[in-house]
Amino acid sequence: MSDTNFSDYDYDLDADEIAALAFEQTQRKCPYCGAPTRTRRARDIYHNQNARGKLLVCSRFPVCDSYVGIHANGAPKGTLADKPLRRARMTAHAAFDPLWQSERMSRSEAYAWLAKALGLPPERTHIGLFTTEQCAAVVQACALWDFA
Ligand SMILES: [Zn+2]
Repeated sequence: MSDTNFSDYDYDLDADEIAALAFEQTQRKCPYCGAPTRTRRARDIYHNQNARGKLLVCSRFPVCDSYVGIHANGAPKGTLADKPLRRARMTAHAAFDPLWQSERMSRSEAYAWLAKALGLPPERTHIGLFTTEQCAAVVQACALWDFA
């Protein structure tokens, strides 16, 4: 069956689910080395029996250290990331999340603000999609807020 044969496609999916599936199609190959990706248990990658959930992982892992978490609904949380990018995204979350966790604004208001601050369309404003440069821009933009 070719990729363009949608005869067994589930038409009951809503727009978000279709977007998630379309996004998943773009995640079939590792962005670093081009090898196919695999869904694996997080605990096998983290070597931690308490780790829950699944990851989308480069099939060359650990030679190619590239993966991303998967939501419970099966959609990846972002693009595959190597260690420096995973760190940059964690740092960006640490700078940004207090904005909406502080009850200063709602989560969606915070993301709307971030989209404006970075000059990105809202649908592209997800830290899981960001490059290291964009993560640095998040930290810089969030430094304008005073949480003291
Ligand atoms: Zn790879």
